[in-house]
Amino acid sequence: MKYRIAVLPGDGVGPEVMAQALRILRAVGDDYGHEFGTTFGLVGGTAYDEYETHLPDETLALCETSDAVLFGSVGGPVIQQNQKKWKNCEANSILALRKHFKFNANYRPVRLQPEMEALCPLKKDVIGNGIDILFIRELLGDAYFGRKDSTTDSGQRVAWDESVYTEEQVRSVARAAFAAAKARRRKVTSVDKANVLEASRLWRTVVREVAQEFPAVELEEMLVDNFAMQLIKRPTDFDVVVTTNMFGDILTDEAAALAGSLGLLSSASLNTDGFGLYEPPGGSAPDIAGKGIANPIGQIMSVALMLRFSFGLEREANAIELAVEETLRAGYRTADIYRGEGTLVDTKQMTDQILARMPVRAVASA
Ligand code: NAD
Repeated sequence: MKYRIAVLPGDGVGPEVMAQALRILRAVGDDYGHEFGTTFGLVGGTAYDEYETHLPDETLALCETSDAVLFGSVGGPVIQQNQKKWKNCEANSILALRKHFKFNANYRPVRLQPEMEALCPLKKDVIGNGIDILFIRELLGDAYFGRKDSTTDSGQRVAWDESVYTEEQVRSVARAAFAAAKARRRKVTSVDKANVLEASRLWRTVVREVAQEFPAVELEEMLVDNFAMQLIKRPTDFDVVVTTNMFGDILTDEAAALAGSLGLLSSASLNTDGFGLYEPPGGSAPDIAGKGIANPIGQIMSVALMLRFSFGLEREANAIELAVEETLRAGYRTADIYRGEGTLVDTKQMTDQILARMPVRAVASA
């Protein structure tokens, strides 16, 4: 079967880590007999240089005619945000893509192996046998898409953003969470602010209704302020966490700190038709761009998510994830995760090590 993939490397370290992720994708194709057709599109500042827009029509058309989108990262140095090339770059490109394709669920796995505990700010006894949480954040509701305005009232400047949820929005993402938990450790933690917010009360009611459809999965409900604390105190207790757009925005960054480096993380954004965009949640890292030292693992793990969610290639996704785990266990470290122990490697060398541990290759060379 042939899979069509739109590849949008973007800016900064995006093209560097994307090149390595595509080496892994090609290896999976060779090893397991799949044809992955990749077509490149311009996005971000790189697109602006050529088209004076951050998301050219050609790129959008490419995404529309592909089976999945593999995204790098966009944006320039933070101090240059007001330059034409970089102004509103993220909003005009990645946020516009999310809106265009109506991606309603954002999956963010956060994993910390015991061997990587030096990267985690938490104590060893809190980390235990490692952290393995799948966050699922609703992406199309909440204050991000509600009515918003500002005015002056009795000489005071006033502004507001309406936080709105429909039951269908909640049901869709709750089902995604329970389905994911069924294939993991069978627990969903739903995070809301139902003691104060009406939209959260609807959230809680609908999540409970969905829980009835999945009797084998335990539902835990938690208020967001308490969850923010429990995530630090007992991170190993959580399996799948499902939450609203704004709480998810904040909590996934808190959770990212537990994994040690943005360079290790991956994400998937899916719409209700199952179409997906896959990207590392970090930015273009202008401070290290062009040096060949970026960590490629986040982009490589995004390929694994694409194989699993868009193409149903579970065995192939597992092969990549295991190869990454073994490489880290063997002590290979890019600069962002190097703490004086193990072998310091660059972007390409890290990928070489992962490739050498892909199961079919490892067997062939044994
Ligand atoms: P950033 O995520 O680019 O970098 C933060 C820190 O993480 C830096 O020290 C960087 O070196 C490190 N880092 C990120 N990815 C890494 C990797 N693969 N390997 C090793 N280290 C890595 O955040 P920033 O500097 O605040 O933002 C830079 C630009 O990225 C801005 O223009 C911002 O708007 C944009 N941005 C884009 C996205 C996206 O494309 N989805 C997301 C966030 C930020």
